[in-house]
Amino acid sequence: MEDLQPIIFKGIDPDRPLVIAGPCSAETEEQVLSTAAELAANGIKIFRAGIWKPRTKPGGFEGVGAPGLEWLKKVKETTGMYTATEVATRQHVNDALAAGVDLLWIGARTSANPFAMQEIADTLQESGRTDVAVLVKNPVNPDLELWIGALQRIYNAGIRRLGAIHRGFSTYGKHLYRNMPQWHIPTELRLRFPSLPIIVDPSHIGGKRELIAPLSQQSLDMGFNGLIIESHCDPDKAWSDASQQVTPEILNFILNTLVVRDSRQ
Ligand code: PEP
Ligand code: MN
Repeated sequence: MEDLQPIIFKGIDPDRPLVIAGPCSAETEEQVLSTAAELAANGIKIFRAGIWKPRTKPGGFEGVGAPGLEWLKKVKETTGMYTATEVATRQHVNDALAAGVDLLWIGARTSANPFAMQEIADTLQESGRTDVAVLVKNPVNPDLELWIGALQRIYNAGIRRLGAIHRGFSTYGKHLYRNMPQWHIPTELRLRFPSLPIIVDPSHIGGKRELIAPLSQQSLDMGFNGLIIESHCDPDKAWSDASQQVTPEILNFILNTLVVRDSRQ
């Protein structure tokens, strides 16, 4: 992965950490548009929302599906933010690209599956849309080679605006963290691929909103390249991941307390 390009968006300072924020799931048009408006008012430029949700067990809220893409289009029109969503299948990739989603991410359950990764990579290549930005979350299990393999499949499809998301690793039992950070794993990834941007997902590592600020600061102190944080207009009523979401106002407060050291110095 020699010739990666930085993940630059027009109007976003490339020398600052990349910040992506938005709800775990798109739930209703109103929830999406009001969260987006509040995030935009607080300076967020890239909006995330899960349209297709991989849930641990059946019977839960599995996402609104393709109709949610129309809401993401409205987010772009009304706020000017860029949009990001999770894709796991050929259909998701084609639908998201057709709807003008700017950044695709691949979830931790999907990046653990080479068949699914290859299907996504082939779809991206066939679409001719190798300009799109793609972020690959680490697999749920702490397997660095599997994570690298997932990234390489997307790279081999021609994607050069490629990055990784560190979202922690599953473990059995109750712990402080929902997903163990095991910082040595993303650190080794960075050492092996110095030009690959790695952004951190403190929401899914911590699993609780109080851990977002310390995990975010830790990520920046270690030199990671950005943050993806779940934010909802009414977090306690969220249909998924309620305990780890914060309002756009709290998110803004957290971001303003973070100390960003200038890596160019
Ligand atoms: C998410 O980003 O909401 C999500 C499902 O994350 P992960 O794939 O990291 O579990
Ligand atoms: Mn989530």
